[in-house]
Amino acid sequence: MHPQLETLLEIQDLKTQRRELQETASERAMQEEVFNLGADQAIVQLDEKIAEMEDTLPTLTRNRYNRIASRYERVMVPVIGGTCYGCFVSVPTALSSDADRNNEVRACQNCGRFLYLID
Ligand SMILES: [Zn+2]
Repeated sequence: MHPQLETLLEIQDLKTQRRELQETASERAMQEEVFNLGADQAIVQLDEKIAEMEDTLPTLTRNRYNRIASRYERVMVPVIGGTCYGCFVSVPTALSSDADRNNEVRACQNCGRFLYLID
């Protein structure tokens, strides 16, 4: 997989974890046991890591990422059966072909989310 796509997936995963940390306040006691640090500290650390990873993206990708991230929770979505699973619109065959599978950074022409192909 293209390194930028891997970074984007990792950022998305970190953001999901951040959201879960915020949403599950009642489980904080358990999390503090698991992480050995408070949920607030964990969120600060996640934010630092997310910012650090965002900084590694080239300008063009980062600009697109920022646009998508301001509109959608998920910036990367899978293409399954030729359909973008962000907006459920068919993506052109050229985009969904597996000739150079996930070795390019591609975006849905309808919703703009980054795409990755899965089996
Ligand atoms: Zn789409």
